[in-house]
Amino acid sequence: MAARHAVISGASIAGLSAAFWLRRTGWQVTVLERAEEFRDGGQNVDVRGVGREVLARMGLAEAVKEQNTTETGTVFVDTDGRVLAELPSNGPDGATAEFEVLRGDFARTILKHLPDGVEIIYGDTITEVAEDADAVAVTTASGRVLSADLLVLAEGVRSATRDRLFGDLVDRRDLGISMVFGTIPRTASDDSRWRWFTTTGGRQVHLRPDNHGTTRAMLAHARAADVTRLDRADALAEFRRHFADAGWEARRVLDGFDTSADVYVDHLTQIRMPVWHRGRVCLAGDAAWCVTPMGGGGASLALVSGYVLAACLSTTGSRFEEGLAAYEKWMRPLVDDVQTLPRWIVPVAYPRTRLGLALRRLADKAMTSSLLSPLTAKFTQVADTTRALPPIGAAHS
Ligand SMILES: Cc1cc2nc3c(=O)[nH]c(=O)nc-3n(C[C@H](O)[C@H](O)[C@H](O)COP(=O)(O)OP(=O)(O)OC[C@H]3O[C@@H](n4cnc5c(N)ncnc54)[C@H](O)[C@@H]3O)c2cc1C
Repeated sequence: MAARHAVISGASIAGLSAAFWLRRTGWQVTVLERAEEFRDGGQNVDVRGVGREVLARMGLAEAVKEQNTTETGTVFVDTDGRVLAELPSNGPDGATAEFEVLRGDFARTILKHLPDGVEIIYGDTITEVAEDADAVAVTTASGRVLSADLLVLAEGVRSATRDRLFGDLVDRRDLGISMVFGTIPRTASDDSRWRWFTTTGGRQVHLRPDNHGTTRAMLAHARAADVTRLDRADALAEFRRHFADAGWEARRVLDGFDTSADVYVDHLTQIRMPVWHRGRVCLAGDAAWCVTPMGGGGASLALVSGYVLAACLSTTGSRFEEGLAAYEKWMRPLVDDVQTLPRWIVPVAYPRTRLGLALRRLADKAMTSSLLSPLTAKFTQVADTTRALPPIGAAHS
């Protein structure tokens, strides 16, 4: 019997994990990526919970550990850089996780270890999808026509193909927070910890060490307009307007972003959908369920989704509908767990007034006290489950 053919759109963590596991379980795999070449860049992501088990099954735990960002802990600081409180970072799922890695390093590690035979096509996107009972036909911008048994959309939170095929089912929840991430030169004052500064006006400044001799910086602003529609210069100007008087290292970060090679702007938007598949088309990673950094665990869920999809399809054979339904059933509780945010979380995390900031600092002290820190540690336990991962069908294991 000829191998079943999967076309995957998007070559980041979800798409590459799906490629890895579908190929491992006997599929012919073609990956389409919009970018002209492998997309490096992106800041800290981590592998948590059941993601660690998937990483181990891929044989990549050591390879990812070697890319560790070198971060040793997480502290809240004041405008002079003095440490106000330290978040629990002991155990694999602390604020600084056992597997802290830069998005680009992580995606490249999966790419480098893909099983033989995965075809990756850069610089092409899907323009048309037609499906009949036996196959899905994918036409691309460059004129390719690919016939497949399965189409996996792993195009991230702003997936255009998802919007075309599932638009009526996409519920976008704007969390009202804009973030800009970028790499800036390291200075002598940067240490091995994630330093997190919160100030009035719903603003945060973050500095984190990396394994490339530079510093990863992030500015976050609540109640912000969506900056993702702006070009880079306008988006950075918008952040400069909000952060010029923020204090601590904000000015250094703003200046650093002006020349940073990999500025990434996001306006946090959850994607919620009642189903993640229709016929022979399914969604994976942020395209299906973006949880945003506010929920956390997006990279872990993207990684896990590739395994779960391939495992479910390996046991149901040509009964795709059944396999895709099982995939969804397994993934959904993990996603729901991080998408359900308490209403108070944004105003408390991003205080607007001096009083709000004072209360936030008191809350930080309480949360990180020896009494409450075991409870606080639960906030960073995402992609966590007591359920066993679905097995890979005997014919493919
Ligand atoms: C360059 C980059 C930098 C990032 N930086 C950060 C960061 O600093 N902090 C953070 O928290 N998260 C960041 N993210 C998001 C983070 O990677 C995801 O939240 C998470 O890892 C889930 O991954 P994903 O594979 O589902 O989606 P993503 O990582 O978003 O990947 C989607 C992939 O699909 C490709 N794509 C998009 N549209 C199409 C299309 N129409 N056709 C073909 N391919 C398409 C994209 O180029 C990308 O390679 C970044 C993502 C990217 C792509």
